[in-house]
Amino acid sequence: MIRTAGEIASSGPVLDDESTPLARMVEDTIRARKEAANRPPMPRPHSTRVLVVANQKGGVGKTTTTVNIAAALAQLGQSVLVIDLDPQGNASTAFGIDHQRGAPSTYDALVDGESLADLSSPVADLPRLDVVPATIDLAGAEIELVSVVARENRLRRAINAHPRVGSAEAAGDDRYDYVFVDCPPSLGLLTLNALVAGDEMLIPIQAEYYALEGLGQLLETVEMVKAHLNPGLVVSTIVVTMYDARTRLASGVAQEVREHFGDQVLKTSIPRSVRVSEAPSYGQTVMTYDPASSGALSYLEAAKEMAERGAPR
Ligand code: ADP
Ligand code: MG
Repeated sequence: MIRTAGEIASSGPVLDDESTPLARMVEDTIRARKEAANRPPMPRPHSTRVLVVANQKGGVGKTTTTVNIAAALAQLGQSVLVIDLDPQGNASTAFGIDHQRGAPSTYDALVDGESLADLSSPVADLPRLDVVPATIDLAGAEIELVSVVARENRLRRAINAHPRVGSAEAAGDDRYDYVFVDCPPSLGLLTLNALVAGDEMLIPIQAEYYALEGLGQLLETVEMVKAHLNPGLVVSTIVVTMYDARTRLASGVAQEVREHFGDQVLKTSIPRSVRVSEAPSYGQTVMTYDPASSGALSYLEAAKEMAERGAPR
């Protein structure tokens, strides 16, 4: 099915990887131009927003959402730190950061109390974005920390001790605007550390059957953490990922998520897109790998939405 540029422009978003490459390119270019034309300047949050990206289900888009929203915010002029808290180190891979066993990593901060500032690396092609990578050593931390005093506070302490985290008054102009913590697919001690450390939670939900299953358990854990360990934690942001506009299932799931969570859900859903899934194999986010693709534009839109809503409260 080949359509003219005019037809594509007037028909709204068609997020369809099966359309012809030419049609897709035209569509992407039109959207990218529209996008650039009405991009307002981004205000910085007054204090660093610490967001925990969690969902104990694997493969729902936690890492993809973390790296691309972080990259998009950096492209929008915000200073961002990503902390990879998954022993698989997928976020580190997507940023092209070395994460061989033994490399400086989140493990050193959690287990040995090293400073995050000494463990982070800048990301190529994304000024203002730093990453603390995760190595497979982190898998051991889950066990090694069990006998440690205040074992669920390790990450909070590390983040709060970072000289670039805090309010404008305390941390100055050089402060990070956002810290993202990419969690592993479980509700163990690593994720608990993240929930204790965070101000906000960002929950990606995959637009598929069973999407809401398991969320009850996640939200119960959040309530437990709020009651005992981190009263300020807020589920501020829910994003629907891998949305396939061609299926009724996807729109049904998205609608159900919206009915259930209301304003917490970003208006922008992230389409299923081949460009998004192939970017990590080039050590890149889709934001640099193919910035005009539908996936990149959606993540940019989602990042703007998050920034414009501001911190909750
Ligand atoms: P999680 O971190 O929750 O385990 P990932 O972000 O690693 O999930 O995503 C799981 C898989 O789905 C990965 O292979 C990723 O490339 C792919 N994926 C994620 N988002 C999209 C998308 N919008 N379009 C296509 N593939 C995606
Ligand atoms: Mg992941």
